Amino acid sequence: MQAMVLNKCGSPLEWTDLADRQPGPGEIRVRVAACGVCRTDLHVVDGELPDPVLPIIPGHEIVGRIDALGPGVTTLHIGERVGIPWLGHTCQVCPYCRGGHENLCDHPVFTGFMRDGGFATAAIADARFAFPLGEAGEDVALAPLLCAGLIGWRSLVIAGEAKRLGLYGFGAAAHILAQVARYQGREVYAFTRPGDIAAQSFARSLGAVWAGGSDEIPPERLDAAIIFATAGDLVPLALAAVRKGGRVVCAGIHMSDIPSFPYNILWDERQIVSVANLTRQDGIDFLKLAPMIGIVTRTTTYKLNRANDALADLRAGRFEGAAVLVP
Ligand SMILES: [Zn+2]
Ligand SMILES: [Zn+2]
Repeated sequence: MQAMVLNKCGSPLEWTDLADRQPGPGEIRVRVAACGVCRTDLHVVDGELPDPVLPIIPGHEIVGRIDALGPGVTTLHIGERVGIPWLGHTCQVCPYCRGGHENLCDHPVFTGFMRDGGFATAAIADARFAFPLGEAGEDVALAPLLCAGLIGWRSLVIAGEAKRLGLYGFGAAAHILAQVARYQGREVYAFTRPGDIAAQSFARSLGAVWAGGSDEIPPERLDAAIIFATAGDLVPLALAAVRKGGRVVCAGIHMSDIPSFPYNILWDERQIVSVANLTRQDGIDFLKLAPMIGIVTRTTTYKLNRANDALADLRAGRFEGAAVLVP
């Protein structure tokens, strides 16, 4: 197998030839057909997440077909198309796992961060954490659903019944979520980098009723806002944009420091919450809903050996939607 490997944070990924790995008990091996590039991959490469396991193959939006089953795997079969997400394994015994919050597991294993991911021609995964994808939809189009879509979905659920929904940062997650929100009859207000006219018109094309810069006050007070961008200074801006009792959901795994702000923008029972990881139930719920909505993902594909270019373009905001690597 070939892979793009991170040997040292802050350095480019390196093209590497590796011996084919065999799945262990309860594991599957997948021939990777497509792997999305997520903002979290940039955080891993940049060393912004604690305790990276190096060397590591990034990538946690994997679509591929099973070509080997480890001992004891009975629920999946050779040739089946599956998706492998960020949540690679949970302990099942900690209080969070037992309480239905495996996204907060005390001993999780995350794909592309703690175990090798999908910037490769093959990947090994825990069979219990792979989602059967069926045959509908193209591999490349499905890949962004596996993190941008799933974490976006979890964020939307946590945002609550909000009719007027603000989305700060209109990238891979927001462009999927805008379609879900519109399907649910919500109004989407899209906030982009100030002056990013292309992203604003992209948001309008996906049904946003308003699109503007993150420094702008929307024409209506929002019921909730979800922040996908990594800039902590968006938190006070979003708080100031939500109504009394409104909620601001921080959906990223990493955010720059949040500046201090006057208490009166939090007053009146406004809330700030974060969303961490996903549960398998999130995946089951969202992947069942996605085909009904008819979500169309905007993707830019790169050959696997150009993963560094994909990461650089993501960093610079050089495409709309999501980047996807293909072997
Ligand atoms: Zn656990
Ligand atoms: Zn991700």
